[in-house]
Amino acid sequence: MEKLYLYQWTWAEVKAYLKKDSVIIVPFGSTEQHGLHLPLGNDALVAIRLAEDAARITKTIVAPPCWYGWSPHHMAYPGTISITPETLISVLYEVLRSLIYHGFQRLIVINGHRTANLPPMQIATTRIRNETGAYVTIADPFYIGDTVSRKIRESPPGGIGHAEELETSHMMHIFPDLVDIKKAVKNLPHKKKFHFADPYMIGDRVFTPSSLESFRDATKPSGVTGDPTLSTEEKGKILHKALVDNLVELIKLARKEKVSLKRITPCF
Ligand SMILES: [Zn+2]
Repeated sequence: MEKLYLYQWTWAEVKAYLKKDSVIIVPFGSTEQHGLHLPLGNDALVAIRLAEDAARITKTIVAPPCWYGWSPHHMAYPGTISITPETLISVLYEVLRSLIYHGFQRLIVINGHRTANLPPMQIATTRIRNETGAYVTIADPFYIGDTVSRKIRESPPGGIGHAEELETSHMMHIFPDLVDIKKAVKNLPHKKKFHFADPYMIGDRVFTPSSLESFRDATKPSGVTGDPTLSTEEKGKILHKALVDNLVELIKLARKEKVSLKRITPCF
């Protein structure tokens, strides 16, 4: 059995790993609705598969995944589990601090939940960086896939939002059995002067948080923002390869980073 995860190892094996390496991949996701065609675990599954594929190539250990994220507006649909940003900051901070206490010095956090998880995760990692001296970085498929995503997307401007073309294509490649593409429906946002969720378009942007009601209204009846009907397994394959390649490069760079850890206590 392949053993990529820390939870599969003994403490003695972790000790031996730390004698020769100090990198760890930490996958974080969410459990939230992803339309009628994708599973609730979508974001965690993406982070997990990316972590596993990058770990296999770079011979890096993977921390136990976190299946929960900050998904307040998705509570409009059944099955979504949302933790508060304060909890997310604490969980990530305390997980990283535990790992650093044992000697991990370079921590690659993969965020499968994209923009919603990012602010709390940035707060946690900035604190960790300053308090411990460890090298810590967040890799988010939205952003480490920027170059290739702009090339392969066919959706019109505003069409990359939630459970859309790219997210669906990616899942068709990595977890085809969990995608029911016949149920994918298109829900493009109405043209507005300002743009909201689509990170791959040029234009003036503002940030306006959704309320549960406004989100339900804007995404009903499916929960989708964008156009998943343009999704193909081929696009997912191209995207996944680019994401894994970038993660591998990031891990190699992390191994070369100069780190001087401060003496820290565990979280009590
Ligand atoms: Zn998602």
